[in-house]
Amino acid sequence: MERMDGLDVVACERCPELCDSRSRIVNGVGPADADLLFVGEAPGANEDEQGEPFVGRSGDVLDETLRDVGLDRGDVRITNCVRCRPPENRDPHVEEREHCRPYLEHEIDAVDPEVVVTLGKVPAEHLLERDVAVTGEAGELFDVPIEGTPRRVLVSVHPAATLYDPNQKATFASALETAAEFSDGESGQKRLGDF
Ligand code: URA
Repeated sequence: MERMDGLDVVACERCPELCDSRSRIVNGVGPADADLLFVGEAPGANEDEQGEPFVGRSGDVLDETLRDVGLDRGDVRITNCVRCRPPENRDPHVEEREHCRPYLEHEIDAVDPEVVVTLGKVPAEHLLERDVAVTGEAGELFDVPIEGTPRRVLVSVHPAATLYDPNQKATFASALETAAEFSDGESGQKRLGDF
């Protein structure tokens, strides 16, 4: 039983374990025509409670770093590989990611962003379909066919990595600076006005 309403999945029971662990399906947020589409791993406890991706501590880091590069959370679209919270915040299994892939691909296709930014190892490996050494490849852009359309994918570390290792802050900020170059959202235009 699967049902979508625009970009939102409103009913899905493909992953029995995730159906048990979720309180709700957490869909992407942000403009449906955003220049930048950020893709995380899966909702955590806060996201599951509030029904929005990246609203916990990782979300605070993401919001702050977006501001540091002249962007606002409202300028970008934010989603996850998997839309239901895995039990005990474990990584989503490959099978679960595959169940959710069509929803993500549909979102990428519909939003048609300038850049898809992967936050952490799971989304990078999911979209590039290979092993990714995220810290080493952060800030690099790759052309990847997604649903038959070439897409620009920018690898980034996960915002939570900056909480465990402060050295990752600069790596994260630098990847987001690269992303911001592809955005002409309102804040981006304001940024040009600063010069
Ligand atoms: N981490 C993720 O990967 N996604 C979220 O939505 C929140 C934390």
